[in-house]
Amino acid sequence: MSLSIVIPAYNEEGSLQELHAKLVESLTEIGQEYEIIFVDDGSSDGTFSALEKLHTTDPNVKVIRFRRNFGKAAALTAGFRAAQGEIIVTMDADLQDDPVEIPRFLEKLDEGYDLVTGWKYPRLDPLSKTLPSRLANGTVRMAAGLDIHDMNCGFKAMRRTVTEEITLYGELHRYIPVLANWRGFRLAEIKVKHHPRPYGKSKYGLERLARGLFDFMTVFFLSRFNRRPLHFFGMFGLLAFLAGFAIDAYLAYIRLVLGIFIGHRPLLTLGTLLITIGVQFFSFGLLAEMFTYGAMSKERDYSIRETLE
Ligand code: UDP
Ligand code: MG
Repeated sequence: MSLSIVIPAYNEEGSLQELHAKLVESLTEIGQEYEIIFVDDGSSDGTFSALEKLHTTDPNVKVIRFRRNFGKAAALTAGFRAAQGEIIVTMDADLQDDPVEIPRFLEKLDEGYDLVTGWKYPRLDPLSKTLPSRLANGTVRMAAGLDIHDMNCGFKAMRRTVTEEITLYGELHRYIPVLANWRGFRLAEIKVKHHPRPYGKSKYGLERLARGLFDFMTVFFLSRFNRRPLHFFGMFGLLAFLAGFAIDAYLAYIRLVLGIFIGHRPLLTLGTLLITIGVQFFSFGLLAEMFTYGAMSKERDYSIRETLE
C-alpha cells in the first residue's frame, strides 16, 4: 500500500523545511512507500525555491508550480491528479496539522472507511476564525445531515477512489466530506492535534463566512438536484403558472360572463406575472436538463463499491 501526501502551499516559505523533516520522520516510521506532492499555488515569496531545495535532496518530493494563485481547491485537484498512491493524505503547509497523526488516519481507514477527516481539537486559532467556523459547520451539519464537526479541516486521508470521483473547483474543497457522502463513501472523523500558525499569515478571513454560504448553497443544490434540475425549477414553475392561470381564468370569467371591465385590476398584473415567471422557471429547468444530459455522457452518475466477477 503506498501513500501520497498532497500539500497545497501558498506563501508558506517559513514552514516548508520543518514540515518536510517532520513528515519524513513520521512516514519512515510507517514504513510504506510514499511520495510527498507539494503544490505551489502561485506563491510570491520563497516557497518555490524552498520546494526546489527539498526536491533536489529528497527523491520522494514532487513539486507542482502554478502560474498564478488558483486557490486551494485547484491546488488539491492538481495534487490528486498527480498522486500515485493508493491512499491520499492531504494536509496544510503551515505546520498547523501535525504529521505524527498520519498513522491514526491510516488505522481509521483500515477499519473500512473511505475518507477520514480531521477534527482540529482543541482548535488553536483566533476567535475571529473559530466562531464563524462553528456557525458554518453547524449549518452544514444540519442541512447535509452529516455528523462531522470540522468540514474544512485540511487534514484528511482518503482512498484513491474518492479523489477520482469527486470534482473540486472554486472553493469547494471545504465540502469534500459533503461531496464524498453524497456519492456514498463511508466517512469517519478523528480528533487531531492542532497547532497555532508559527509562520506566515492565514489566507482566509471573515469573508469566508459569506463565500462559504454561497458554496454551501451550490453543494446543497448539486447534491439534491444536480441530475434532475427540472424537478427543482419545474416545481416552482408549475406552482407559479397554476396560480397565474387560476387568477387570469377568474378575471376572464368576470369579464366575459359578468361583463365587468377588468383593465384596472392589480390582480391582472399579478396573474400575468405569475404565468410569465412560471414559463421562465420551466425554461431554466429544461436548459439545465440539456446541460446535464451533455455532462452525463462523459461522467459517471454512480459510484461502485465493489464488483464480483
Ligand atoms: N492555500 C493555498 N492556496 C490559497 C490559499 C491557501 O494553497 O489560495 C493553502 C495554504 O498555503 C495552506 C492551506 O491552504 O497550506 C490552508 O490555508 P490557511 O492556513 O491560510 O487556512 P486556515 O488554516 O487559516 O484556515
Ligand atoms: Mg492554517
